[in-house]
Amino acid sequence: MQIRRLSICNQFKCIGAACPANCCQGWKIPLDYDTYIKYLQEKGFFGTKLRVFLRRNEDTAEFRSVLGRCPFWGSDHLCEIQKKHGIEYMPAVCVQFPRQLYNLGFFCEETLYLACPEAARFFLQYVEADGPFDCIVMESEVSYEVNTTNDDEAFLNYLIKSREELAGMLRTGMDFSSMAILTYGQEAQNACLAGAALPSPVNYSEECYQTSPLGCVGGEYYQINVREINQLLFDGFYHPNLRVTSNLLYKLCKRYIREFAMLSRINPQAADKKLSALQKGLYQKVPSLGKILNRYFEYYLLTNFLDIYEDYCFTKCLRFGIVKTKMLLLFLALYAERKDSMEMAEIAKIIAIYERRAPHIKDALSKK
Ligand code: SF4
Repeated sequence: MQIRRLSICNQFKCIGAACPANCCQGWKIPLDYDTYIKYLQEKGFFGTKLRVFLRRNEDTAEFRSVLGRCPFWGSDHLCEIQKKHGIEYMPAVCVQFPRQLYNLGFFCEETLYLACPEAARFFLQYVEADGPFDCIVMESEVSYEVNTTNDDEAFLNYLIKSREELAGMLRTGMDFSSMAILTYGQEAQNACLAGAALPSPVNYSEECYQTSPLGCVGGEYYQINVREINQLLFDGFYHPNLRVTSNLLYKLCKRYIREFAMLSRINPQAADKKLSALQKGLYQKVPSLGKILNRYFEYYLLTNFLDIYEDYCFTKCLRFGIVKTKMLLLFLALYAERKDSMEMAEIAKIIAIYERRAPHIKDALSKK
């Protein structure tokens, strides 16, 4: 099998107890079947402890969460299961994390989830160095299963080409929130359904891009106002339980609710204006912010664009990426509100904790 691995994966090394947001914080730990059976058969006190925290649902099994964390995450910030029996004894999901292993049947892609602060730190190093997210291609056997039911190879190749063209548009200076990105996606989808070739990215450059099927003109940007953010927040992203699972994110959500959501109820325009000032302030505190957000969206394309292989919906995927990037901007701005500047380590930490909750934005968008 051909494996296409981002070079960032080879550089990654877990920092263990020194990690500011360990792997299992804020997530349930699903157990694969083999691990579940193995834990049922474990003998002695440790076996009893494993079974106390096992929970079996209809088709799945998981560890019960204790204070928003895996019950085997110790006070020394290390995994008790790994310490006792080694890495092979851990659930498959824990062994894999933060690697995202995507077997598409014809080839595999390997990337890193930015929900790991160390992966987010490496990501920011690439951004600072202006380096490309290189892909290392190799042939090897893979142990992970095929993740798709689709076997339309021509469409998969179409998606790969389309992703390269979108990344190229970003690299030539287009902002991630330019409506040209969505327009390209819409036209690529139409062309694909009509069996035609991909639209040429040159039609979307600043000079050539004039009108779009979505009714937007060149230079327009995808905007989300406070009312829309409220909807995204209250339709899935925010939950009072965040206080336990991700206290920093909880505090940032509460700050947003106090300062923006409540104001928007009595004066939506004033709330939008205040939000715009908050975000502009962040651009001054972090001069490379524009570059960071653009590369974050580019990374999203590398890790999520092939999700289209399942539903053939370009616009849905691109819209989620743009909104996800805009919401990251919001949380970075809220974090930096009372600070004069923001260090790269702080940005990496916010990216990591935000990434753990960001899939809820997708759910909220689908309700709109
Ligand atoms: S989140 Fe990343 S750095 Fe932290 S413990 Fe997990 S793998 Fe290691």
